[in-house]
Amino acid sequence: MKTYLRILRYAKPVGLLAPQYLVYTILEIIFGIINFAMMIPLLNVLFRIENIETYEYPDFSISIDYLKGLFYYYFSSIIEEKGQFSALYLICGLVVASTIIANLFKYLSNIILAMVRINVITNLRTTFFERLMSFDLKYFSSSRRGDVIARGTSDILEIENSVVSSFTVLLKDPLKIISLFTVLFWMNAQLTLYTLILLPVSGLLISQLVKKLRKSATRMQNTLGEIGNVLDETIGGMRVVKAFGAESYLKKKFRNKVDRYAKYNFTIAKIYNLAPPTSETFGAITLGLLLLIGGQMIFNNESSMEAADFIGFIVLFSQILAPAKSLANGFSNINKGIASGERVFHLIDEDTAILSKPDGKDCDAINDGITFNDVSFAYEEKDVLKNINFKIPKGKVVALVGPSGGGKSTIADLVPRFYDPYQGEILLDGTNLKDFKTESLRKAMGIVTQESILFHDTIYNNISFGNPHATFEEVTEAAKVANAHEFIEKLEKGYETEIGERGAKLSGGQRQRLSIARAVLKNPPIMILDEATSALDSESEKLVQEAIYNLMQNRTTLVIAHRLSTIQNADEILVIKEGEIIQRGSHESLMEDGGLYKKLTDMQSF
Ligand code: ADP
Repeated sequence: MKTYLRILRYAKPVGLLAPQYLVYTILEIIFGIINFAMMIPLLNVLFRIENIETYEYPDFSISIDYLKGLFYYYFSSIIEEKGQFSALYLICGLVVASTIIANLFKYLSNIILAMVRINVITNLRTTFFERLMSFDLKYFSSSRRGDVIARGTSDILEIENSVVSSFTVLLKDPLKIISLFTVLFWMNAQLTLYTLILLPVSGLLISQLVKKLRKSATRMQNTLGEIGNVLDETIGGMRVVKAFGAESYLKKKFRNKVDRYAKYNFTIAKIYNLAPPTSETFGAITLGLLLLIGGQMIFNNESSMEAADFIGFIVLFSQILAPAKSLANGFSNINKGIASGERVFHLIDEDTAILSKPDGKDCDAINDGITFNDVSFAYEEKDVLKNINFKIPKGKVVALVGPSGGGKSTIADLVPRFYDPYQGEILLDGTNLKDFKTESLRKAMGIVTQESILFHDTIYNNISFGNPHATFEEVTEAAKVANAHEFIEKLEKGYETEIGERGAKLSGGQRQRLSIARAVLKNPPIMILDEATSALDSESEKLVQEAIYNLMQNRTTLVIAHRLSTIQNADEILVIKEGEIIQRGSHESLMEDGGLYKKLTDMQSF
């Protein structure tokens, strides 16, 4: 129920929708009942014409009796004055009119329902995405993409379906049932009480079914997430899959998940389809009981009810069966939706967001530099960085070198606050990074990573990414600084060339130069570079090196160096091993010291 109410809270802005919905629904129900209540005078007209009673004008009161009296007063006078055909015409006219009006209100109330549903889904999707964007990178490395995507798509779709049915279930159907029961009670209280005997039994049965359904629905949605994971990994690693002939392994893995999904799906189908027949069966039993008891009453003249009233009673009772069935159905649906709702909220409630201080400082320029004060960090339990101390003074270059897995990328990720250290602090111009607005902080930094993340879009849009107001001149200028302009010009469509998923249509060096161009265009005072030249041919490497050199000019730079030859001019070099700085200094002093740096340099020059 908590999850359900939480979903409903996303319906904002509700405003006048709720009262409007209520009014339309009530009118729809009233006209619906009038429609069937017409049966009684109709039967009277058809079968009991000779001895139609003349009704007195009723005394005014707010009651069904008054309305009925009024109706019969006019109705009997019409029969008396104009004959039975006129009365028949009148009834038929009223039946058609009340049906049309009831349907008009049904339409209006459904439109409101649609508005609420659309509100819920729009707000939920937006919140989901916004939350996702605020998570730190730790979240994305520990959860599987396919599952996150499933939560954002199919789970939200499931919620959408449940929300729609839920309004009918929680409001319209009970309202319909209560109104019909009220009329039935008024017509014949004793008979109506009989109909209530079987109600609790059927309700109990259905609630048991619904509970079972929720469990299976959760399992099914989880499996759907797993299917997404396999799909994501397979598509992402297709080259490796093919190279290693892993197709049959993956097919089997996928088939396993799909089979599990099918199993849960079938369980759900069995339960889901059991609810409506259950309620219908109970409805039919009750109806049979009614006919039996009511019929006997009439045969024995035990009741004041006329045969026409009794038939009207039965017709009205049969109208309860449809909303009762849809109520059962709706409850099953809601529970499927709640299972999905829990999955979505689980992600929304995830507590790994890097919060930006709303009243934090803006980071416009850099005056002093970036300082790491006794910083320690762990992804899980094990420390990845231990007591790191260093400073990148304004306009200087600090380079990180060392064996892979030492913690260099982690240090680089702490500067834009992709993660926060659990101990120590990182200062920018003497202010803790946490005291800045995170967006403003990141705006001041350019990041070129090893993977050079590009998007399935044109070259132009990839360079101007995050900088939508850049002019064409600025974009080409940035491409020139990044040594990318020349190769872009040679492409058939130039800057409008689509580069494929993750830049698949470009070479490694070209991809890198595009990311560099993007950073140049952003023109930030701080640069974080993960230099990846190892996979490039020497011509490409030279171009990338040059581009990086251009990029570092007049900026405060942290660079992760793989080719030691490129950082010999760095102002300070830190040698990182197993999360600690084991050597530091200029290239010359480190070479003199001997140790790991000299060993690595010697190995590379060899
Ligand atoms: P380097 O850049 O020097 O190669 P990293 O900073 O990438 O080193 O990694 C340092 C250590 O942290 C490694 O032991 C690595 O396995 C671990 N590590 C890196 N990223 C994650 C992550 N997202 N989750 C858990 N452990 C990680």
